[in-house]
Amino acid sequence: MDHALAWPPNPTNWRATLARVNDLDAFWLPFTPNRHFKTAPRVLARAEGMHFFDESGRKLLDTCSGLWCVNAGHGRREIADAIREASAKLDYAPTFQFAHPDAFALARDIASLAPDGLDHVFFVNSGSEACDTALKIARAYFHRTGQGSRFRLIGRERGYHGVGFGGVSVGGIANNRRSFGPLVPGTDDHLPLPYDRATMAYTRGEPVAAQDYAQALEGLVTLHGAETIAAVIVEPFAGSAGVFAPSKGYLAQLRRICDRHGILLVFDEVITGFGRLGCAFAAERYGVVPDIITFAKGVTNGAVPMGGVIVSDRVHKAFVERADHTIELFHGHTYSAHPLACAAGLATLATLRNDDLFARARNLERVLEEAVHELKGAPHVIDIRNVGVAAGIELEPDPCEGSERAEQHQAAQDRPATGGTGRCAVGAAAPVPGGVDSGHLIRAMLGPDQPPRQFSATGL
Ligand code: PLP
Repeated sequence: MDHALAWPPNPTNWRATLARVNDLDAFWLPFTPNRHFKTAPRVLARAEGMHFFDESGRKLLDTCSGLWCVNAGHGRREIADAIREASAKLDYAPTFQFAHPDAFALARDIASLAPDGLDHVFFVNSGSEACDTALKIARAYFHRTGQGSRFRLIGRERGYHGVGFGGVSVGGIANNRRSFGPLVPGTDDHLPLPYDRATMAYTRGEPVAAQDYAQALEGLVTLHGAETIAAVIVEPFAGSAGVFAPSKGYLAQLRRICDRHGILLVFDEVITGFGRLGCAFAAERYGVVPDIITFAKGVTNGAVPMGGVIVSDRVHKAFVERADHTIELFHGHTYSAHPLACAAGLATLATLRNDDLFARARNLERVLEEAVHELKGAPHVIDIRNVGVAAGIELEPDPCEGSERAEQHQAAQDRPATGGTGRCAVGAAAPVPGGVDSGHLIRAMLGPDQPPRQFSATGL
């Protein structure tokens, strides 16, 4: 069978082409209402710059940088070339007691972008694996340092840390937790999200909070005892829940409380890493140094799956200095530091540097902010939030929610854009050369003539 899809496709018969080359039934799509999807599949054929193109040649504005991962825009030739060359030279190499040069080079490159003192990188293959790895390292750190009673892992309401058992347990998105039985012991406590719509709606950038949200951690210390708490994990800004910037001073206060009680602070930078906030990591933007950073997504510009965990010298030393010939961490993946991912990572970081994309993202922040806040007053919009090159537009709850799902999905399908979680349209612009047509971005997210409520919800 000829599996090649002709480009450009003949718009009249692309569904027939698709049916021929794809068994739609076999592929169970993640986070997707599958039965509905397959009645009108949205199939992407290629991508370039800020756009996807579907099989019929229709152009879709990629309002979410893929899934927050294509930070430098689609179709970067230098990244594609690096992957091609790597696969021809070293298609696979184990990193259990072996290694390859690009793994060391990429780890060095990433460590050089991280705050001083965070110098050691453990590679995995996704954000979910990065979060579970970080949580395991936190517990194992205390085990190794004679404080094995510290087992609690504290997340935050509405937090998203991927779909592994650890990440779901510390995460705070109800639907992601509900169906999966007992979660990881010691993860029941969640800090509040530093957000209050009554006082913070329509804030541009980081809001000022009327209360000290981080103080809730002191409450948990009082309740459980610091000697039972291993780590706190937060997204510097909550992305998947709908873009909630940290309130001013919040992360610094969390850091102070963790220090006071010997608790490790983990920043989940799977979204915020590699330019989303106009710098390499949120830690830099907020001047707060965590003990552990998780990353994924933008590290390879989304081109090859990769994630990782950056740990402080203190944490790293606790493992390696106490071991001689023995394995210090019984953890890792067949594809940790895969050669193709490392090549993609090195090329991505070079691209971010060569194109000065962090600075470009900083310049774009105000442009995106102006554009999204123009929607204040639009029907059904109840809040607009932005930080870095990310924005969330929150819609009032749909009184008929559930019954209108299919119609809403259809409405979203007809929109020339991607992007949306729950009752929130989210945008994560790629600071690609040439900038972004922010007016178009917003119109494409919400539609020029449809009430915003018609924008689909995809189920978080
Ligand atoms: N952590 C955060 C903050 C994320 O936003 C995501 C994904 O969106 C993840 C973890 C999970 O990453 P992945 O989907 O690569 O497993």
